[in-house]
Amino acid sequence: EFERLSLPPWLKRSIPQGENFSKLKSQLRTKKLHTVCEEARCPNIGECWGGGEGHTATATIMVLGDTCTRGCRFCSIKTSKAPPPPDPDEPYNTAQAIKDWGVGYIVITSVDRDDLPDGGSNHFAQTVMEIKKANPSILVECLCPDFAGDKTAVDTVIKSGLDVFAHNIETVEELTPHVRDHRAKYRQSLGVLRHAKDTLPDLVTKSSIMLGLGETDDQVMQTMLDLKEAGVDCVTLGQYMQPTKRHLKVVEYVTVPAFEKWARVGDELGFKYTASGPLVRSSYRAGEFFLAGIVK
Ligand code: SF4
Ligand code: SF4
Repeated sequence: EFERLSLPPWLKRSIPQGENFSKLKSQLRTKKLHTVCEEARCPNIGECWGGGEGHTATATIMVLGDTCTRGCRFCSIKTSKAPPPPDPDEPYNTAQAIKDWGVGYIVITSVDRDDLPDGGSNHFAQTVMEIKKANPSILVECLCPDFAGDKTAVDTVIKSGLDVFAHNIETVEELTPHVRDHRAKYRQSLGVLRHAKDTLPDLVTKSSIMLGLGETDDQVMQTMLDLKEAGVDCVTLGQYMQPTKRHLKVVEYVTVPAFEKWARVGDELGFKYTASGPLVRSSYRAGEFFLAGIVK
């Protein structure tokens, strides 16, 4: 029987509006971009796309198709052992579509492509290069898979000219086997982040943790310490939301004060930027990094 904790009021969001939001939305109809913002019905779309006062407009797009070779228990992306091959024209076409779209900060993310020898890393790199060629002023973040821990693949992405390298640890070590696909390992994810920082110390690195899956405060603290130890610069914490009844249940709706506590912890531990709140997602208002002076 499907039991659901009732949604607390702090998770409800009003309908997005605003001039920049409407502009990006109407232009998107003529562009072949798959935004996570729209497709995942992200509640932050008004704030991220709105841009304007205080932050740069941010959007997240998906490359490498809509079918993942993995199956994490929190994620509603469809799964297959052999997804269709990547579209070789996607990097160029994506760059052209973004060029005059109006976003200042673009997050490129993808499904996991364990079927490809390079994990899709060259496709990421080409997409970054094409975007920078078409519009050098757009800031680019890659939110990457773990590439099965393949350091060559990580190098390919981090040397592409991107501004921020992100890989999500997702949850605490103890819950990782229960929450993420069995090929995703907590220590492997830390290793990917560590390798990126060791290779390019000036590159901004970033990771995210979902809360509400049954983790303890001590375990969250340990995860933040582990991320710090891996040289991660920016961390985000948000509430896990169950996408369908076949996915992991929400164990707890973490309160606003508890999220605020983690934001303070992040500052105390010395992260350059910590975003923590019920609706915070990995890319939440990421354009703020720019104005915060983290990406120069
Ligand atoms: Fe898009 Fe990420 Fe912002 Fe959501 S948080 S609207 S997915 S950029
Ligand atoms: Fe979803 Fe990423 Fe897990 Fe694939 S690897 S199922 S896209 S969270």
